[in-house]
Amino acid sequence: MASDTRIASSVDYERDGKQIGWLALPLSVTRSAYGNLMLPICVVKHGSGPTALLMAGNHGDEYEGQIALNKLIRSIDPARVEGRVIILPAANLPAALAGTRVSPLDDRNMNRVFPGDPDGTPTEQIAHYIDSVLFPMADAFADFHSGGGSLDFSPWCGFNTTTGVSRAVLDRTVELARAVGAPLTINFGEDLDTRVAAIAALRRGVPNVGGEFGGGGSVAVEGIRIVERGITNLLATLGIMGEPPAAPPPTRLMTVPGPEYFVLAPEPGLFEPFVEIGETVADDQPAGQVVFVDNPAREPVPVRFDAGGLVICKRHPGRVERGDCLYHLAVDWDGQIGDGAQRLN
Ligand SMILES: [Zn+2]
Repeated sequence: MASDTRIASSVDYERDGKQIGWLALPLSVTRSAYGNLMLPICVVKHGSGPTALLMAGNHGDEYEGQIALNKLIRSIDPARVEGRVIILPAANLPAALAGTRVSPLDDRNMNRVFPGDPDGTPTEQIAHYIDSVLFPMADAFADFHSGGGSLDFSPWCGFNTTTGVSRAVLDRTVELARAVGAPLTINFGEDLDTRVAAIAALRRGVPNVGGEFGGGGSVAVEGIRIVERGITNLLATLGIMGEPPAAPPPTRLMTVPGPEYFVLAPEPGLFEPFVEIGETVADDQPAGQVVFVDNPAREPVPVRFDAGGLVICKRHPGRVERGDCLYHLAVDWDGQIGDGAQRLN
């Protein structure tokens, strides 16, 4: 594989069996002149078949995927595998250990630096390794997220699209997202930001799914169950392990048509929400109000929804700054990728 990465792997991606090892990223610091950042990785290979790349800890404060993949590494039996499973359970390890969205080493958000940089900061170097070494090996990729410390979510699995992706890759992406069987399956359409792992994988021709399985900096019991069942369904659908379910698991197909489905705080203050996750709201319905605890004489500033739909995301902390995301909505989707994507082929 042609990659100018500085990261060295202790696992042999071509060897049969289960290997639990490290990606060593050289990190020369005062405490350790010739030190390395050691990122955990597991490779399970047996027979011939496709390769699934499973990742969590892209954001360090999102835990359901980290727990599910940690358990999978210990439980997966190579004899049951036909193909290869590559598992990165804490992709941005410094962030995962700190319980933060961004890495404490460089203050970078890994899901905003793809395709990364082999000579960049630690977070950029990790993203570059994933993009240039792991994506080319993968037939499918899953990146498990949650809302982290600042957002709560109704659990969903979903995907992005972007220009230049083949119809076959998009169709497979939709098939895999539905196979995960989360309560909601969300088509995010053309992503607002092209520096995310999902878009980088699509550019490498890798069908891939993501999703939000909890939030608030906590660990959702149901979120872990959904991720674990989703991995089982995903590996079965790929033909790597187990029998696929006789019927596709039930899910509600949804989409987020545009930025007007997000509600942002208009002022800094304390946000009083009027609706909860799972409620259906109408366009122009009051969403809440910003209250000024330092000046009770000041009238609260009202906040309204700019579109109607299902509330799938809500800000977790009460204090807000102007521009913070307070809510976002989704609407029902017919399961068809739109004309814009179909033109790409
Ligand atoms: Zn995330």
